[in-house]
Amino acid sequence: MEQININYEKLIPQKPVTDVVAYALEKGAFQKSYLVYRSDRAYEPLGGQRIDAVLVACSACGREFHAEKIPAAGCSCSYSPAPFGWRNDQLAKSVISGDKTLCPLCGAEAKVVHIGNIRTYGGELVDDAWVTELSQLPVEGLTDRLVLTDWCIRRCVNKQGATRYETWPYTAWVVEEKKVVRLMGYLKNIGGRICLFGEWRQRKTFVDVYGSAQLIVPWDKALLEGTTAENSKLDLYQAEKGGRQLVAYLSLWRRRPNVENLVVQGCGNLVQSWIISEMSSGNYKGGIPKLEKVNWKEKRPAQMLGLTKEEFRQMKQGKWGTEDLKKYRRVRDDGVPVQLPEDMELLREIQYYDCSSILEEAPSRIFGEPSDI
Ligand SMILES: [Zn+2]
Repeated sequence: MEQININYEKLIPQKPVTDVVAYALEKGAFQKSYLVYRSDRAYEPLGGQRIDAVLVACSACGREFHAEKIPAAGCSCSYSPAPFGWRNDQLAKSVISGDKTLCPLCGAEAKVVHIGNIRTYGGELVDDAWVTELSQLPVEGLTDRLVLTDWCIRRCVNKQGATRYETWPYTAWVVEEKKVVRLMGYLKNIGGRICLFGEWRQRKTFVDVYGSAQLIVPWDKALLEGTTAENSKLDLYQAEKGGRQLVAYLSLWRRRPNVENLVVQGCGNLVQSWIISEMSSGNYKGGIPKLEKVNWKEKRPAQMLGLTKEEFRQMKQGKWGTEDLKKYRRVRDDGVPVQLPEDMELLREIQYYDCSSILEEAPSRIFGEPSDI
């Protein structure tokens, strides 16, 4: 087979296609606001002189105000993260660097930071959020590629409380005919520190460093039409509650195209649960999900899940999760007769390893309750 080796570094979007900063803000990605404070002199009207005080700047509303200076010992903590704190009159409470409080002017919940504690990133406080965009990439003579770009939005708050945003390439994924190509916008150093390149660098191997999306810019399923991911049903997968493992799903679909049948037939929740449980297992290394519970040689959803047509109907009607399915298959394979749907209620309440023995002794067996089926 002809091997296609395209370098996508300069072909994929170098900048976000939409206003990802606005989207992140709209979705409340940066909930952490800061009240940055420093020593200052304030005019005291009663005594008619300038006194020692604290100037506080709020990153949420951008305003500044004076507050009473409180020596560190007077603050409600045993060790002193800063030489002094200040009194939040609104809440009648003293706060010091590291505390959480509400801005007396705008009411936003904010972290209190003494100016001397701002050391990160060239003297600015930094918060990151991630936004995913999907787009089409035309490639001459080939099918248009579906491209997923994940941007890192960095909010930087300076010592005056002023805020600015940076947008950095983080990870990008190009769906090809046979595989998903990975591009990185960062490198993780040995110490775990993230080094941002400011450009895309293509990698030879697939490793799912994407995980679960934080924010995904809304997209229409028409975007998939005519692309390499046309039949992926990515839209249906994403529509599942918590269906945010877009790269894992796309790579699985590329290797096992019939996963689409499960998603179309309303089993996207199972696919999603299995993907997440693989990701969260201790020996996960970022490979393509295996979903070993699925019989990939089969095409039809019931057979793929090792069920008869009637069992499959019951499963969908009863909205079984992966645990339900696992328990049902175990009991059935142990040769214990299962009455659906009523026995599923019982199975849900017991441990996996007790399933068969408890069900054998279930009242419906002993007293021979009539079945509805
Ligand atoms: Zn404020």
